Amino acid sequence: MRIVASSDWRDAVPFESPVLVADVVPGEPTRCFACGPDAEPLPRTELWAFKHRHPKNHDGYVRFYCAAHVPKVERRMPAAPATAARSASRPAAERRAPKPVVPERQRATCPNCFVEVSATGECGMCGWSA
Ligand SMILES: [Zn+2]
Ligand SMILES: [Zn+2]
Repeated sequence: MRIVASSDWRDAVPFESPVLVADVVPGEPTRCFACGPDAEPLPRTELWAFKHRHPKNHDGYVRFYCAAHVPKVERRMPAAPATAARSASRPAAERRAPKPVVPERQRATCPNCFVEVSATGECGMCGWSA
């Protein structure tokens, strides 16, 4: 078994979802990243650990934030916002497409009588079958 690395608690922090610092890495009061190094340390029960995605580092990186600075979590509905944005930018005329006219299914025409055959596919005049 591998010696537990000091960064292991970070693995437990979900991406872009704040968790109470006291729950993941309890300890001495510490500071909010956004408040800066001059701010009063806050108890870890009032700080949030937030894991950011990092374009290069697969594991991302974790910052601590006070309640005022913790990033707002966007509830991402897959595909839905993109679709809304796309239809919003589309011209109104295109968006309100006319109801397509569904042509009645073309029936075969009897080669003898030049009339459309009946629903059964037979010509009512001569009995030719499509
Ligand atoms: Zn803060
Ligand atoms: Zn016919």
